[in-house]
Amino acid sequence: MQGENSVSVASEHVASWLTAWMQAEEIVLWGAADLSGFSTPKDNAGQGFPRALAWAVPMSRLVMAGIQGGPNQAYADEYGRVNRRISELAEKLAAEIRSGGFRAQPLAASERTDKEKIRGDFPHKTAATRAGLGFIGRHCQLVTYKFGPWVRLGTVFTDADLPCGPPVNRSFCGRCTRCVEACPAGALTGAAWEPGLPREAILNVQACDHWKKAHYFQYHQGHNCGICAAVCPYGLKLLKMKPDNPRDK
Ligand code: SF4
Ligand code: SF4
Repeated sequence: MQGENSVSVASEHVASWLTAWMQAEEIVLWGAADLSGFSTPKDNAGQGFPRALAWAVPMSRLVMAGIQGGPNQAYADEYGRVNRRISELAEKLAAEIRSGGFRAQPLAASERTDKEKIRGDFPHKTAATRAGLGFIGRHCQLVTYKFGPWVRLGTVFTDADLPCGPPVNRSFCGRCTRCVEACPAGALTGAAWEPGLPREAILNVQACDHWKKAHYFQYHQGHNCGICAAVCPYGLKLLKMKPDNPRDK
C-alpha cells in the first residue's frame, strides 16, 4: 500500500477506510510497512507490533531552500509546526485504528522524551523505507520520491492487517555527494545506504550534534540544522515544479 497508488489495490476494509482517512487529512505520501523481523516498541502489555503506518508531511520548500547556508528562525518555526501536525495526526490515527478493534501506538515526531525512549526507540526512517516511501540518502535522512528529503515523518505501529508496500532496498544517490561536501561539521562519511547499514557508518552523530549545539543553539536548543537536506537535488528540484503546498504559493 502506498499513497496515491494504493486506492485501487487496497481491497480490504481497513485499507479502504484508511485511504479515505488519509485523503481527508490531505496526506498524499503514506504507506504500510511490514516490520516482521524488526524489534518494535512494545505496548503496555509488553507486545510488539508486526506493522506500521508511515507518512510524510512536506516542509515549505521556500523555507528549506533558504537554509542552504544554515538554519534560521523561519526553519525552526516550520520544523515545529510540521512536527506538531505529525504528532496530532499520529494520536488521531492511533485512536481511529483502536476504534476499529486493533492495537495501535504512535511514535512521536522527533526529539523523543526519555519516557518515550523507554517505550521503544525506533527510527521513523526504517518504517518509511519498509513502507516504500523512499530511501536513505548520504545525509542519513529519508529521501522521498515526491518531496525529496524536505519532509518530516510520522509513524503509527499497529497489528491491523494491511497490505504493505514493497520496501526500498537501495540508495538512489548515485554519484552525488553534495550533502557530504556541504556539511559544516564534516559529519557525513559519504557512505551509500543499504538496509541494515548502521547509522554510524553514514553519520557521525556526535560531530553533527556538537556542531548544531555550538552554532545553532538558538533554534530548538541546537536540535536543528538542515543544511544537508537543503542542498539535496531531490529537494531542490521541487523549486522548478508547480507548488502543491499552500504555504509555498
Ligand atoms: S544536520 Fe548539519 S551538521 Fe548534521 S550532518 Fe546535516 S549538515 Fe552536517
Ligand atoms: S545531496 Fe546527493 S548524496 Fe546527499 S542525499 Fe541528496 S542525492 Fe544523496
